[in-house]
Amino acid sequence: MNESTLHPELLLVLSAPSGAGKTTLAHRLLKEVPNALFSASFTTRRPRGKEQDGVDYHFVDVATFQEKIERSEFVEWAEVHGHFYGSPQSVVEEARARRGVAIFDIDVQGGQAIKRKHPEAVLIFVLPPSMEELERRLRDRKTDSDETIRRRMLAARSEIERGIASYDYIVLNDDFERAFQELRSVVIAERCRRGRVDLSKLKLEKPPASDAGR
Ligand code: 5GP
Repeated sequence: MNESTLHPELLLVLSAPSGAGKTTLAHRLLKEVPNALFSASFTTRRPRGKEQDGVDYHFVDVATFQEKIERSEFVEWAEVHGHFYGSPQSVVEEARARRGVAIFDIDVQGGQAIKRKHPEAVLIFVLPPSMEELERRLRDRKTDSDETIRRRMLAARSEIERGIASYDYIVLNDDFERAFQELRSVVIAERCRRGRVDLSKLKLEKPPASDAGR
């Protein structure tokens, strides 16, 4: 295994329909997994609620976003609900330098794009306990009209279909603690994957032929 095939970093993509609890799971992972970093995406949408610039997202205008596309600063980007979202390439570099775990809280098209560029990335799809429960959670927010909820449910169904067809792991979030332990187990197992473990200190390479038999 030489340096070019070694991927000490773990690029972990978490996707789910909104209301499945993915962001809470991502935050718990960040707290409990050693050497984990969160990929705060760039977006052109406005901040909501308690969101902080530079923490949840980097909020930028369309011109700034376009400059970043031109400078190839995104590992992937997409237009979602009329706004641009992009994951910074710098997070990939930082994870590699730190031999850490980069957590991307993005949608299925973003996850698939990262996998195309980095086939060793690990894609995890978080499922709600049921479609009825997902609808109940959306209604409990009391912020959306019936029409918006209907549209969100249609979008959720399509996101779930694409996620379960193409992601590496599925975590069912019917019990938060169990779902978290499953996620954590995936991280632990993936860190032991061949190609991610640094074997250089073992010095397994054969000595050069001229040294043999001395
Ligand atoms: P929200 O505006 O509700 O925070 O996010 C809307 C959707 O965009 C969510 O599905 C979220 O996962 C996704 N998203 C957030 N950041 C990115 C990103 O950098 N790339 C992609 N492809 N999707 C993103």
